[in-house]
Amino acid sequence: DKQKQQQKQPSTSTTATATTTPYSALCDVFTEIENVSGRLEIQEKLTTLFRKVLLKDGGGDGGGLDDEKKATSTASAASSKADNPTQSDLYTLLYLASNTVAPQHANVELGVGDGILIKAIGEASGTAPNMIKKKYEKEGDLGNVAMNAKGKQRTLVGFGKATSGGPKRLSCVDVLKVFKEIANVTGSQSQKWKVDKIKSLLVRAKGCESKYIIRGLQGKLRIGLAKNTVLASLSHAVMLTKPRGVVDLTEEELARIRKLDGTDEAYPPTARSLCEKRLPPLDVQLEAAVDIVKKAYNEVSSYDALLDALLSAPIQELHQHCALLPGVPVGPMLAKPTKSVQEVLKRLDGLRFTCEYKYDGERAQVHMLSNGETKVFSRSLLNTSEKFPEVPLYVQESCKETKVVDFVLDAEVVAFNRETKQFVPFQVLSTRKRTEESAESAKVQVIVQAFDLMYLNGKSLLDKTLAERRDLMKKNFLPIEGKFQYATSIDHTEDGDTAVIEEFLDAAVKGQCEGLMVKTLDVNAAYEPSRRSLNWLKLKKDYLEGLGDSVDLVPLGAYHGKGKRTGVYGAYLLACYDEDTEQFQSVCKIGTGFSDEDLKELTASLNNHTIPEKSSQYNVSDTLACDVWFDAVQVWEVKAADLSKSSTHKGAIDKTGENGRGIGLRFPRFERIRTDKKPEDATSSDQILDMYYAQDSIVAGGDGGDDMD
Ligand code: ATP
Repeated sequence: DKQKQQQKQPSTSTTATATTTPYSALCDVFTEIENVSGRLEIQEKLTTLFRKVLLKDGGGDGGGLDDEKKATSTASAASSKADNPTQSDLYTLLYLASNTVAPQHANVELGVGDGILIKAIGEASGTAPNMIKKKYEKEGDLGNVAMNAKGKQRTLVGFGKATSGGPKRLSCVDVLKVFKEIANVTGSQSQKWKVDKIKSLLVRAKGCESKYIIRGLQGKLRIGLAKNTVLASLSHAVMLTKPRGVVDLTEEELARIRKLDGTDEAYPPTARSLCEKRLPPLDVQLEAAVDIVKKAYNEVSSYDALLDALLSAPIQELHQHCALLPGVPVGPMLAKPTKSVQEVLKRLDGLRFTCEYKYDGERAQVHMLSNGETKVFSRSLLNTSEKFPEVPLYVQESCKETKVVDFVLDAEVVAFNRETKQFVPFQVLSTRKRTEESAESAKVQVIVQAFDLMYLNGKSLLDKTLAERRDLMKKNFLPIEGKFQYATSIDHTEDGDTAVIEEFLDAAVKGQCEGLMVKTLDVNAAYEPSRRSLNWLKLKKDYLEGLGDSVDLVPLGAYHGKGKRTGVYGAYLLACYDEDTEQFQSVCKIGTGFSDEDLKELTASLNNHTIPEKSSQYNVSDTLACDVWFDAVQVWEVKAADLSKSSTHKGAIDKTGENGRGIGLRFPRFERIRTDKKPEDATSSDQILDMYYAQDSIVAGGDGGDDMD
């Protein structure tokens, strides 16, 4: 049952449309957010809206902490969530605010083509589509074009006519329902149907509503609101709305207090004041709540499952209600880069660890449900079962004898030559089609290299140590030649570590691997979903003398090419991602490493994502004015000579401790596009800062100089 609940689609089919939040209320908040840049301010605005929904307020000031009556009634409402109309509204708001229609692993994405949108705007506003197209080309924002086209039409139509009546105003539920229908429909026949659906929304839209409908359907709200802020706002809203601390009291204690106070209230004032005294300061509680909610979300990767739990259990107990289940992928655990065996030994001083080959393939989280259904998920939680149809079969075969009921296994799928019994480079694996019929018909053969087990026979193993998880993996999944193997590993031994590990690293690289993954075995050895943990270290041979790792950056804009590069972009501006401010911060200009073919392909693909001006989400110095700006849509792997402090670039700008100087990359070189990463998965500013400080020159006492641009 719980599994079904977690896999269900967002609850938009509510009967409570009458009491649902008007779409205009959400759009007003979007507009406010678009006009501010401070993360906290943005978060507060969304928190207020979420609280209004929780409080069934629908207006006013969103209530206050001392508004005891409201809080109490909400807590009871939240706990009896059946038939609660506010409940489905919050689900809806979460999806609309994060501009998604389903959990990531459902592979359902919004992203309607401009042609369809232009047609719908034209029909809804009575304007010829080529006029809309021209305006779009001139202004660059189809949302604004839609808003202005509608505005104009209303004046004309309304002129001299009675304005009473008219179509019913849009609610958030209405909008998400249509977004979902559109995202789910396929086939070319669907075009006219889509135009009609979008038109049906636009004719009912007022003011800025059409702007956000169109931007939402394009897949980019462009207001600088990302998942982390949505989750933080949700945590704050719930914490501030449910009575604080009453969870400390048992039901018996509450019953006694109710009797003493002579009230039926779920949380009588005496109970509340008793708890207030025992509680840490509000800020501390709010911060803790955000951590708990983010951790829970990382395990279930679904707003529905998160909210189900959040509305029915105290935040402090969220973990028990929001745990990993087969069928729902969790954010994979990630590793920190290191530059030498000595550094590894220093970081893991005294802890027992294992070194595994780091395979150069694609991450695969393999889930088997108790009904035998088996799915594969990628690093960014997309369902890749159709790309690797043989992977479920290989893993099922490996645990056939041991009668496993259900599981979640972490592994790398690697291209493999069965005749030579050798791994094949990643470039070959990346030629696999999105959908392959079978192993036999696919050009590239693969093998599963398993390295972790997160769930087995009804139980989550996340809190167990790696040593325990690995034992269970080896007991329950048996190797099959050419199909399923464990990651080759050696465990930490007391003597001669450096030499043994260096030899093992050499062997890994000779065997077509990228290097080693080094992981703690017993202490600090739990599986940490979505975390880049110090308990997993990566050691890559090519970068031992350089930065320790390549970086993954997002192209924000480009400069027109000259000479041999006329007609394509000659250079690009790249950025890292700052998780705290949810901004993309420029770290380098890049013009090296591209083949002629790369230059053509990148220009063509990014030309579909141009925007009229620099986004408010981009932290870029004015001196780096690009000829063309793009939406953040791609991630590129880049190698560089080193990192330096920069007066031009903004990498980790708030974290360098130097006024106005960020961190930039010197001599960057393009390697490849990372199709498995979303822009928010790019190298973070924290990682850039770590890499800067880990450089030999800085460790030796240098100050990193200044950059050269
Ligand atoms: P990250 O995933 O850390 O953001 P990235 O995507 O650039 O970085 P790498 O730095 O190459 O990837 O290393 C991490 C990846 O290595 C994992 O996501 C996984 O796909 C792969 N990998 C290969 N072998 C192992 C192993 N033995 N244990 C864990 N991961 C492994």
